[in-house]
Amino acid sequence: MKVLLVEDDVSIGEGVVAGLSASGMAVDWVQTGGQALAALANPAYSVVVLDLGLPDIDGLDLLRQARHKGPLPPVLILSARNQSQHRVTGLNLGADDYLVKPFDFDELVARLHALHRRSLPASGALFTLAELTVDPLRREATRGGMPLALSPKEFNLLSALIEQPGVVRSLSWLEDRLYAWGEEVASNAVQVHLHHLKRKLGEGWVHNIRGVGYKLARQPADAEPEETTPGRSQVSSPPSGGLAQRGRSGAADDTA
Ligand code: CA
Repeated sequence: MKVLLVEDDVSIGEGVVAGLSASGMAVDWVQTGGQALAALANPAYSVVVLDLGLPDIDGLDLLRQARHKGPLPPVLILSARNQSQHRVTGLNLGADDYLVKPFDFDELVARLHALHRRSLPASGALFTLAELTVDPLRREATRGGMPLALSPKEFNLLSALIEQPGVVRSLSWLEDRLYAWGEEVASNAVQVHLHHLKRKLGEGWVHNIRGVGYKLARQPADAEPEETTPGRSQVSSPPSGGLAQRGRSGAADDTA
């Protein structure tokens, strides 16, 4: 799950980033409304955590502007403003949830997972596909009831793919989902994690659509001849050339 945190208070921001990262989320943190609007051009965010008291724009105005620009991921307002008028205004402007500071961290994590799930077509506590099950809150994945031993990144990759089975995700989308800004990412890191995930799941789950991306679907391996065609290059060029460099702008040039 990928989170955009909009928070100008450095100590709160650092705490939220550390806590959400520890719970397995990738977090991009911006401290102004302007940066937030730019970052929201990235389609990989699962949820937004929005402070209201920002230096350049009020969070409610930011929400209004962002809604005007286009569809947004679910927004949770995290604010010290406790009056019901603020909550009502925020919710009227399209915020999906409201948590008052100081807050309980486990509650924040649980609410973000709930918001994210509700934003997806198939919503339930668990994501499932055939005999595959992913519990994002507990960070457990099973196949046929047996736990899968996945690394944190492999788990996040599987979570990203199983949210909407059959939907093809580009490498850059997957990379955005897995990593926060500034994280060190080897140029083929996502492909390496995909490779391990495919191996651990076995044949017929993760499918490479050449030149487009990857999807999770339950298909027998032999229904997919292009995967194993001998003589073709093993790894096609990723859709974007920027895999080796992360760490700055969220307004990626490759958001297709
Ligand atoms: Ca603030």
